[in-house]
Amino acid sequence: MEYDFNLRGKVAVLTGAAGVLCSQIAMGLAKKGVKVVLLDLADMKAKEIAERITADGGEAFSEKVDVLDKKSIESAADKILKKFETVDILINGAGGNKEEATTGRDKSFFDIPEEAIKWVFDLNLIGTILPCQVFGKIFAEKGKGSIINISSMAAFIPLTRTLAYSAAKAGISNFTNWLAVHMNQEYSPEIRVNAIAPGFLLTDQNYYLLIDKKTGGFTERGKKIIDKTPMGRYGKPEELPGAIIFLCSDEASFVNGVILPIDGGFAAYSGV
Ligand code: NAD
Repeated sequence: MEYDFNLRGKVAVLTGAAGVLCSQIAMGLAKKGVKVVLLDLADMKAKEIAERITADGGEAFSEKVDVLDKKSIESAADKILKKFETVDILINGAGGNKEEATTGRDKSFFDIPEEAIKWVFDLNLIGTILPCQVFGKIFAEKGKGSIINISSMAAFIPLTRTLAYSAAKAGISNFTNWLAVHMNQEYSPEIRVNAIAPGFLLTDQNYYLLIDKKTGGFTERGKKIIDKTPMGRYGKPEELPGAIIFLCSDEASFVNGVILPIDGGFAAYSGV
C-alpha cells in the first residue's frame, strides 16, 4: 500500500454543501482531485462554492435538492450519473438545530413546540436516511461505496438545552451503525458507512448559545465547553476535511461503522 490517501477521480456527493462545514469539506476533497457535487436547498450559495472550486482548478457542480424530498434527491442522482457516470462517496451534511427547539430561561421543556422538535428530527435524521436510500442503492448495485454521516458530541451524551438535536444526532449514530452492518450483510463487504462527530466549532448553528450578544464574550456555556476541551479551544471548519479524506480513502478500507470524534479531546475528558 502506498498510504497516499489517493482520491483522484472519485465522485463525491455532499448534502448541505453550501453550509459552513460541508463547503470546507467539498473544497478539501476537490483539492485531492475529487469531483464534487454540491447539493443544498440554498442553490445560489452552493453554485457560488462550485464556481469557486472550478476557478481553483477543481471539478464541481451544484444542484438544488431538498433532503426531505426523495424525488428531488433521485432527480439529482440521475443528473450526477449522466454527468459523471458513477458516485463513490456520499457525505450527509444537511442538518442542524434551531432556537425554537432549545430550552432556555424563557422556554421550558414543557412549552417546546412539537413542530420545532419535528423540524430538527426530520432535517437531521430523515434528511440523512433518504439520501442513503438513493445513493446507497447505487453503491449496492456496484458493490462499492463510502457513506459519511455527520453526528455530533450531543450524540454520545446529550447536551443540556438541545433536546431534539441531541436525540436526532444519537439517531444518526445509531443509524450509521445499522447501515454499516446492513450494507455488508446484504450487498457488499466493500461498502463502508461511518460518521464524524464534530466537537465544538463556532458557527451560525451554535453562535447564540456560545457567544453573549451583549458583551461579545463567551456565555457561561461557552466557557464550560472550553474548560472541558483538553485542547482548550474551539475547532475550525478546516479541521474536518482531513478526517473525511482518511475515511473515504482506501487506506481506511477496514474502518466501518465508526463514529469518529473531531473534538479536541472533549469526549475523552470527564472534566476531572
Ligand atoms: P450550516 O447551517 O452552515 O449548513 C447546513 C446546510 O444544510 C445549509 O447550507 C442549508 O441550506 C442546508 N439545508 C438545510 N435544510 C436542507 C434541506 N432540507 N435540504 C437540503 N439542504 C438543506 O451547518 P453546519 O454548521 O455546516 O453543520 C453541518 C452539519 O454538521 C450539520 O449536520 C450539523 O448538525 C453538524 N454539526 C455542526 C457542528 C457545528 O459546530 N457547526 C458541530 C457538530 C455537528
